[in-house]
Amino acid sequence: MLGVIVSVILIHSCDPAATSVTVEAPSEVIESEILPHLKELADDKYMGRMPFGPGDPMSVAYLVDQCKKMGLQPGNNGSYTQSVPMVEITSTSTEPMTIKNSSGTKEYQFGKDYVIHCQKTVDAVDINDAELVFCGYGIQSDQSGWDDFAGIDMKDKVAVVLVNDPGFGGEDSTFFKGDVMTYFGRWTYKYEEADRQGAKGLLIIHETNSAGYPWFVVQSSWTGPQLGLEKESVQNGADIKGWIHLDMAKELFASSGKDLSALIKEARTPGFKPVSLGSTMSTALSNVYKRDASDNVIAYVEGSTQPEEYVLYSAHWDHIGVGAVVNGDSIYNGALDNASGTATVLAIAENLTQQENKPERSVLFTFVTAEEQGLLGSEYYALNPTVPINNIVANINVDGCNPNGRMKDFQIVGYGHSEMDDLAAVELEKQGRYVLPDQEPGKGYFFRSDHFNFAKVGIPALFGEGGYDHEEHGIEYGKEKKAEYTAKNYHAPSDEYDAESWDMSGVVQDAQLYYNIGWQLANSDVWPKWNPESEFKRQKTLVD
Ligand SMILES: [Zn+2]
Repeated sequence: MLGVIVSVILIHSCDPAATSVTVEAPSEVIESEILPHLKELADDKYMGRMPFGPGDPMSVAYLVDQCKKMGLQPGNNGSYTQSVPMVEITSTSTEPMTIKNSSGTKEYQFGKDYVIHCQKTVDAVDINDAELVFCGYGIQSDQSGWDDFAGIDMKDKVAVVLVNDPGFGGEDSTFFKGDVMTYFGRWTYKYEEADRQGAKGLLIIHETNSAGYPWFVVQSSWTGPQLGLEKESVQNGADIKGWIHLDMAKELFASSGKDLSALIKEARTPGFKPVSLGSTMSTALSNVYKRDASDNVIAYVEGSTQPEEYVLYSAHWDHIGVGAVVNGDSIYNGALDNASGTATVLAIAENLTQQENKPERSVLFTFVTAEEQGLLGSEYYALNPTVPINNIVANINVDGCNPNGRMKDFQIVGYGHSEMDDLAAVELEKQGRYVLPDQEPGKGYFFRSDHFNFAKVGIPALFGEGGYDHEEHGIEYGKEKKAEYTAKNYHAPSDEYDAESWDMSGVVQDAQLYYNIGWQLANSDVWPKWNPESEFKRQKTLVD
């Protein structure tokens, strides 16, 4: 399969005899096409580009203006914007969680022992003596032949499930990819599956190692207002969702005469069946919710010969706004995250409009909102696409660029999912660079930016993350610089543009890479495929 892609690409770009009948070489992306956008969007006046905040309409207006200036076509029925309606829900515990079984009744404490919330636009929910059922990892997958809900109707029942997936911590790297996190390991998947199962509720047992973060992260993330899309699947789904502390889980299982460690072993074994815990749970929540909307900005260049086929670029324009003061600064500028990616995609669009010949396929640009609040803008687009999803050839997502200078390598997050890796490898080689596979595949970064929502609906996606192997200073230097950003600047007011410390040559290098990949795809008839081991698939067969 790789051979097919390579040969097509070679015909289009390297064979001099073919150039006259195919396409011109991609134009050169330069710093001055990126930096002004980056500086503008990272400016204090945008107030950290928080959706619904003062920086929201400013960011959207800036992007629309740039798209118009470049001569891009409006991507949403004559409009450059797509309104993304969202709802912010604050759940408050009105009755603590009580568990009843043959050992008696025990009351637990919100925050300390458990956190739950309600994702529905309802005023209150009441759970009265709902049966608790241990449903393994909460996974139902035809592809893996795995069903943690086998033979049970979850109506009026609350599922108690384990975090991560059955492969985690095991010896077999082919069983749910071993320590590589699959989508089935993410809490988001478990929430969605509980809705699909028609469960009354879902409780995920927290365990630090399998979750990848300690209890306080669960506690702080799931208390207070939660922003989401209003979706029918959620509105018709589980009343409560949340997490229970490992200590509470141990006590709950013991008090109902069950051995948690033995059940965990069972849950990792094919043929596992759900186990009723012989316990019931009661609790109540009240909900306050409000609705608001932000915008995705969408524009495109129409293809010359296959205009109905699209190469999709994405970058989230939003960041986290104004927050706690750190070193006298309260504006979280998000220069790297993601003014840099937005600027990069703008530069790619500009180059495309300046190419003498139009690409054969159309190229679609989505600048999405509310990534930081849970990938909401891209989720909305994936559920409400402006072109048919199956006409989208592939996605290239840019979230954060490399401010540390030119690199010999390029890290592909979620390496191994699709033929986009092979396509990237070909273009990297032309730049004299090499592919660095995902360095932290256990952390599930492939599920943590906008491309993931496109992958979920079947669009093969590429998400890169700079590199480590600095052209001049080597790997240790590259690693140090990356670690420094994560420790000091990630989601901090100091994520600012600084001419002294930023080396834009790496941003330009990657922008050129993203452009070249898109340019090749837009001038070919290749439909990159998902690899058979990936949990993602095209919605229906397109080719072959
Ligand atoms: Zn980001």
